[in-house]
Amino acid sequence: MNLDLDALVGDIAAEMSEREERGAVASYIPQLAHVDPRRFGIAVMLADGTTHVGGDADEAFSIQSISKVFTLTLALGKVGDALWRRVGREPSGNPFNSIVQLEAEKGIPRNPFINAGAIVVTDTLLGGHAPKEAIGEILRFVRHVADDDTIFIDKAVARSETATGHRNVALANYMHAFGNLEHAPELTLGVYFHQCAIAMSCRQLAAAGRFLALDGRHPTAGGRVVSSERARRINALMLTCGHYDGSGDFAFRVGLPAKSGVGGGILAIVPGKASIAVWSPGLNRVGNSMLGALALERLARATGWSVFAP
Ligand code: GLN
Repeated sequence: MNLDLDALVGDIAAEMSEREERGAVASYIPQLAHVDPRRFGIAVMLADGTTHVGGDADEAFSIQSISKVFTLTLALGKVGDALWRRVGREPSGNPFNSIVQLEAEKGIPRNPFINAGAIVVTDTLLGGHAPKEAIGEILRFVRHVADDDTIFIDKAVARSETATGHRNVALANYMHAFGNLEHAPELTLGVYFHQCAIAMSCRQLAAAGRFLALDGRHPTAGGRVVSSERARRINALMLTCGHYDGSGDFAFRVGLPAKSGVGGGILAIVPGKASIAVWSPGLNRVGNSMLGALALERLARATGWSVFAP
């Protein structure tokens, strides 16, 4: 491909920095409300490790729900397909923090990327551990796949969500009532709030997602993070559920498996080719990064990258 990716990501970063309409920064987690909405970062890491960055690609941000990709990977490694008895695999068509479906579906969340589903996934990781150990295991895993020991948890963000995450407390208690949570809600949520508070730069996040672009192989350590079948399935879930009730529109516009977070980050995977991270804190009406999606749309169009194209 005769494509100058450095120039392309530079152009995209320049275009995004000039945009006036940037969406609204999440404020329901008070600590996230302090983030400057004018920030924009992009990192494209090719399968061979070559990286092209633009904007604030080295500034750490709160990955929030993007962490759900890593906890799902860990949970599948731990309990395998038994996970699917406790959480579904269908798009929800509802907001990420919705509670309504849970009643009709008897405490079994639609998919592992809405909050309820991710809380169940985290609950499986707690099995037999103290919350501190489970948090440590998640952080170690993210550092391992990114091959970067400087990745950290932003304690102020974790504290902020612990103090204000009443909807998640409601979701966890409700699932507990249906028998779909094995641990006390406050223990599982303690782990969940900390995984969401992992901070990474676009460059680090693209590195952490690279195993999903490599059909499950670890990029540098040799061997596998997951089987190729599992990597494909995680990518399938990212495509169908990674942007909540915006997943259809995102697939239509970008055509790549991707996971968003309310910190404004998006991790997108081009199987066999690249792992991409973008960050712009302003969110659209369904809670996904407004300019992050636009940047990925620009990049996908210019590169021809799509899971629907040869
Ligand atoms: N920690 C956030 C929450 O549970 C994550 C949500 C998100 O990133 N969409 O509300």
